[in-house]
Amino acid sequence: MPATDRDVTTEELLELHGRIRGCVACPLHITRTQAVPGYGPVGARIMAVGEAPGESEDREGKPFVGAAGQLLTRLLNEVGLDRRDIYITNTVKCRPPGNRDPAQAEVDACSHFLDEQIALLRPDVILILGRHALSRLLPGSGSITRLHGQRLRRGDRVYVPLYHPAAALYNANLLQTLQEDMRAVRRHLDEVEAERAAAATAAAAPPADQMALF
Ligand code: URA
Repeated sequence: MPATDRDVTTEELLELHGRIRGCVACPLHITRTQAVPGYGPVGARIMAVGEAPGESEDREGKPFVGAAGQLLTRLLNEVGLDRRDIYITNTVKCRPPGNRDPAQAEVDACSHFLDEQIALLRPDVILILGRHALSRLLPGSGSITRLHGQRLRRGDRVYVPLYHPAAALYNANLLQTLQEDMRAVRRHLDEVEAERAAAATAAAAPPADQMALF
């Protein structure tokens, strides 16, 4: 579960998804079949953020369901993670025609939705998939080539930039790098879990002055 000080409800997330589906703030609403808000449980510890929906996502209304999505599922599975536990979304919620790069005006118009998703879910780690998500979430931090696989803390958020799975579909070297980086993500999550368990144990222990002395 995320380290929230209040319970986020499914209703809140669905309300946000509803606003995304109805959004007409940029021209992408004219060419989309449907908006793709995001998919995953409100209690997700991990959020993954890609670039924008492609053809399959535009058709099905879910993120990462095409070839890149299948590779993402496999990469997660290889380190014992299940994509059903992860909240997956994109920088831009509607498909740019012909899968072109999103225009800056489109990114800007959509930006507040991603901010709202992050604020609502407060995940332990945000996986940044590719350079578009990197420049949206950590502008000016550096290139994906330099930052991939690193754990970056900004305020109370932790990010791990990764190569976009689509880039690794036909590139064995990048695939190997992505696999190594996923193992680093797994290690990070295990550390967070261990810290949380230690904190819970400490909180459950009686104060020293109430402990019996033998
Ligand atoms: N690529 C992305 O960046 N996002 C998707 O949802 C699918 C492919």
